[in-house]
Amino acid sequence: MRVAVPKETGAGERRVALVPDAVGKLASSGFTFAVERTAGLAAGFPDDEYTAAGAEVVSRSDVLTGMDAVARVGRPTADEIAEFEPGTLLIGFLAPLSDPEGIELLAAQGVVAFAMESIPRTTRAQVMDALSSQSTVAGYKATILAADRLPRLFPLLMTAAGTVAPAKVLVLGAGVAGLQAIATARRLGAVVSGFDVRPAVREQVESLGAAFLDLGVTGAETEGGYAAELSPEEQARQQSALEERIPDMDVVITTALIPGRPAPRLIPTAAVERMRLGSVIVDLAAEAGGNCELTQPGAEIEHGGVTIVGYTDLAARMPYHASQLYARNVTALLLHLAPDGELALDFDDEITAGACVSGREVTA
Ligand code: NAD
Repeated sequence: MRVAVPKETGAGERRVALVPDAVGKLASSGFTFAVERTAGLAAGFPDDEYTAAGAEVVSRSDVLTGMDAVARVGRPTADEIAEFEPGTLLIGFLAPLSDPEGIELLAAQGVVAFAMESIPRTTRAQVMDALSSQSTVAGYKATILAADRLPRLFPLLMTAAGTVAPAKVLVLGAGVAGLQAIATARRLGAVVSGFDVRPAVREQVESLGAAFLDLGVTGAETEGGYAAELSPEEQARQQSALEERIPDMDVVITTALIPGRPAPRLIPTAAVERMRLGSVIVDLAAEAGGNCELTQPGAEIEHGGVTIVGYTDLAARMPYHASQLYARNVTALLLHLAPDGELALDFDDEITAGACVSGREVTA
């Protein structure tokens, strides 16, 4: 199987779908590669490392020629989709829930597309779980950004010039990103509390040395392990409980998401306006509309002396390791779909069937 690795075209995207190490590993399993010139450069992987791993480094106009599969991070544009040969495999974050038109374009072009978001979150598919690998990086980066923006120190310091009290950090939503944000804030010495509507999370939060904030709101967990959306009454109760607690925090990191739905509104403007000067909110749910009422997706703003970071590309801001981990996810998926480099799609398999978002009929 011949695999193309184009340079990403999304705004601010610095990641690459396959790093040289992954190319080398797959090359010994029967895959060959065309990597677009400078595709890995922004992530710290120069062209010569791809060449040394056995890939051919080619220009943009040649990267899709004669390809069996294309490995990407973000979704291709309509113009890029038009260049695909029918029957080509595509792997990437394709946003099947939020961009159905994009999926229709892929289907119309006969592209056999596998969305990283649609890989079942089972133990068997864990090695391919790019939502988790990228959320881990984003959760870490969220805490690092908060620590950078906060005009206070995170740890307790006892110095000759006096004692500094530790920062108070609250993490809302303790899934993969939230737990990593908690762990990172703990390592930096902050006093950390966490909250999630899924009751099972309490133990995980506490095992990281953080306190579980009791807001008196508990939600249901769906079969896939995700949170079910709260009722409007429960949501209002959560907001007012948070309004009480948030003013005491120096940093609030929010990661609460419901798959395929707008992000739940957890922090109303009134709560932000009661925070101390210099406090920081990092809203990891910005892409889905934000957990904070004031979040501007993609931007960093200030409201009454409170910094609100709404970047939607936190994993791309840590591109070396984000790419390395993503490449391991893509490698595992490629080996699953084409063991030894020979395409063998089995739609009775839950990973193959679950991740395929277009073009299944092309393969029949
Ligand atoms: P996510 O990104 O969809 O959501 C982040 C968190 O927000 C979740 O923990 C969710 O419960 C929480 N949340 C939703 N509404 C909220 C609200 N109103 N207030 C506070 N928190 C709220 O979730 P995720 O991080 O991708 O993962 C969620 C689940 O999937 C977890 O149980 C995780 O362990 C599980 N998972 C399982 C595997 C596996 O291999 N078995 C892999 C990855 C994740």
